[in-house]
Amino acid sequence: MFSVTPTVIIEYLYCPRFTYFEHVLKIPQFEEKNYKVMKGRNIHEEKITLSADYLRKKIGVESKIVDVYLSDDILRGIVDEVLFLKDGTAAPLDYKFAVYDGVVYDTYKTQLYCYSWMIQKKTNRKVEKGFLVYTRSKNKLVEVPVTEENMLFVYKVSEEILALVQNSLLPDTKANFTKCKQCTYRNICPK
Ligand code: SF4
Repeated sequence: MFSVTPTVIIEYLYCPRFTYFEHVLKIPQFEEKNYKVMKGRNIHEEKITLSADYLRKKIGVESKIVDVYLSDDILRGIVDEVLFLKDGTAAPLDYKFAVYDGVVYDTYKTQLYCYSWMIQKKTNRKVEKGFLVYTRSKNKLVEVPVTEENMLFVYKVSEEILALVQNSLLPDTKANFTKCKQCTYRNICPK
């Protein structure tokens, strides 16, 4: 059965038609290196794990589990780590093979919101933040706030995607010329 991953959500937010071509018509992507959606991909070229000691001192981690498969009725995904914090909350942690330039991309935030939604359901612990580790910036640890609203947003988008796939109708697009120019489906997409 079709289920939604963080990548599918990121693509849908880029353009709903992208999801239609890939998951309704099942036309495979011909991915190009410069395609913007790639920004959201979790590239495990340098698999590292911050030590439990470091995380305990830095953000009050009591325990953690690694490479966790998460799912609910619509969403699924694998998060690098689920952290259990001293204050009774839980948090996702994801490693990025990237340089931290002072801005957390929306694609990364979307991934964390998806994981947070599923972690809350799975662990019955509240999630109020997530963490990113930028491996190309000396493993810089960045905290990202997560609200109920953020989590509900990604869940609502998942429901929209499921409806799109079930209804099999070509959706409207909000994409602009710049996005279309970089899109892998630009040659088959009716404008
Ligand atoms: S070409 Fe433009 S409208 Fe069509 S799927 Fe790509 S981004 Fe969306």
